Amino acid sequence: MELDLLPLNLPGIDMTTRPLTIAGPCSAETEEQVMTTATQLASKGIKIFRAGIWKPRTKPGGFEGVGEPGLKWLQRVQKQLGMLVTTEVATAAHVKAALEHGIDILWIGARTVANPFAMQEIADALVGHDVPVLVKNPINPDLELWIGGLQRINGAGIKRLGVIHRGFSSCDRKIYRNLPMWHIPIELRRRIPNLPIICDPSHISGRREIIAPLCQQAMDLNFDGLIIESHCCPDCAWSDAAQQVTPDVLDFILSKLVIRSVGETTESLTELRRLIDECDNNLIEILAKRMRVSREIGQYKKLHDMTVVQTTRYSEILDKRGAQGCMCGMDSMFMKKIFEAIHEESVRQQVEEINK
Ligand code: PEP
Ligand code: MN
Repeated sequence: MELDLLPLNLPGIDMTTRPLTIAGPCSAETEEQVMTTATQLASKGIKIFRAGIWKPRTKPGGFEGVGEPGLKWLQRVQKQLGMLVTTEVATAAHVKAALEHGIDILWIGARTVANPFAMQEIADALVGHDVPVLVKNPINPDLELWIGGLQRINGAGIKRLGVIHRGFSSCDRKIYRNLPMWHIPIELRRRIPNLPIICDPSHISGRREIIAPLCQQAMDLNFDGLIIESHCCPDCAWSDAAQQVTPDVLDFILSKLVIRSVGETTESLTELRRLIDECDNNLIEILAKRMRVSREIGQYKKLHDMTVVQTTRYSEILDKRGAQGCMCGMDSMFMKKIFEAIHEESVRQQVEEINK
């Protein structure tokens, strides 16, 4: 099912210059916190204010948002500062309340997008309304589920749609709170080219130190916008304190961004791309050759009644190739990933061979 889309077309926002920027606290906490943060952001030229009113929390007992009274605070931001406002909706009741209060843009959170029943409920509540909706990626790295959610909202007649890339839940939190897995939004762009993509470096990173490089990466991938959590006093925030930045810091981060143009294909770029194609062809040929050898090994193992996976050999390959790759200027983690994937396919082919 193709999406029937219209440009976001947000009043008063120049949609031709990147990034489209949305900023504001994770949660609306008090009227004063909302107004102070929004005033500071407005003074830095931010035109779209975000704040969560209903907060999906992993465990009960945490701060679950101020609820409907917060919508009045967002109306004050609209009236006094002339900003557009956006908040998260997760149920039909949220949609109804947000629309009654004239919220300009709605977003749907990652946990909600993972649940088709919730998405359909929200879609049904949106029928007959023309409001832009931003759909976050689901917490699990499932592009089809993300697209399915978009289809449900679009099926309700919402044509001004965008997505927010906020990373994917993982138990590996060494660097990121949510793994960016950039290939997923890139594939989404390939499949639906006219759908605006907004990156949420705050929820990807979970910590303010790496927000700047994530913003730059999103811009270098030609994403359309950024949604960044900003709080007048980040360390006192009631939710997501570690990942919020002051409006001052946000302004600094944005001022350092390098926005490159998509650019026309120049002749020298064509030549470089030809070289890349050639490299890829060689890679595929050499991989196919490696797999043929693997299958022969599979036949040998079958003949001699040996198991397919031999852990010592596998560790040796990972270590050696990691070191070799490093010497050639590549990242050892990258090498590890590549050889894990090659090994997985190799094992699959050997198992097929053994069971012939
Ligand atoms: C948020 O934006 O504050 C939020 C809860 O985001 P997510 O749905 O991405 O976790
Ligand atoms: Mn948050």
